[in-house]
Amino acid sequence: MTRDDVPVLLVTGGSRGIGAAICRSAAAQGWAVAVNYTSNRPAADAVVAAIEADGGMAIAVEGDVGTQAGIDGIFAAVDNAFGRLDGLVNNAGIVDVPVRIDEITAERLERMLRINVSGSILCASAAIRRMSVRHGGKGGVIVNISSMAAVLGSAGQYIDYAASKGAIDTFTVGLAREVVADGIRVNAVRPGVIDTDIHASGGLPDRARDLGPTIPMQRPGTAQEVADAVLYLLSPSSSYVTGAILNVSGGR
Ligand code: NAP
Repeated sequence: MTRDDVPVLLVTGGSRGIGAAICRSAAAQGWAVAVNYTSNRPAADAVVAAIEADGGMAIAVEGDVGTQAGIDGIFAAVDNAFGRLDGLVNNAGIVDVPVRIDEITAERLERMLRINVSGSILCASAAIRRMSVRHGGKGGVIVNISSMAAVLGSAGQYIDYAASKGAIDTFTVGLAREVVADGIRVNAVRPGVIDTDIHASGGLPDRARDLGPTIPMQRPGTAQEVADAVLYLLSPSSSYVTGAILNVSGGR
């Protein structure tokens, strides 16, 4: 499907919010994009259609990053469609309803860590097997989507989510050092409060607007503002940057 000179990017959770903005910006900058989603096929199709309308190349790829079978399916679809992989954005992630530590259940915690942490680590592993010069690949780039919650801790709201993003920060630093000789750069972005559907999925649809005045810049960020930072880390402009974690949080 793709030409030899077009690099291929997989964005997990590319159907909505931050991931969708990353997909559209990446396509505009010359990537062929695999738009992963888990349940919202119409949203993924809309991202693909917007990219194609602008003359770009994209496919929608169903798959749950919270299961090995889902991850295997996602990467098989990318292999089949493009036959190459040059970049991965580990963006798929979930929150949950606000709870204190007294109310955290094993089921909630297992789901949170399986999708946010295991999903990112296992997707990176699959990507590195395709991109690493040790495996006959041409090198590549990975961007992990962390959160300012990793630093702030999300007390009284979802410390399990914050801990999952703390794991992403540590994983980013270690992986960057581990695969530098494989020709792969690894960085992360820490979004602050960004106006997307994720807050409604955690039972707080007005969270971004409510927190706006508490942010030094006096407003939530946009998915596009996060995408712009991710695109910098994907691009050759950041060729000497690896193991970095960039806050995109309006000063929060
Ligand atoms: P969102 O609007 O809720 O979108 C989530 C995306 O992830 C959707 O495309 C969804 O697919 C996909 N997804 C969810 N679970 C998945 C799974 N198990 N496997 C594959 N895809 C899955 O979220 P967002 O706000 O854009 O957040 C994106 C990332 O940024 C997350 O990692 C989040 O933790 C991080 N972040 C967000 C904020 C914020 O304020 N929004 C702040 C800091 C960090 P479907 O469309 O199929 O449901």
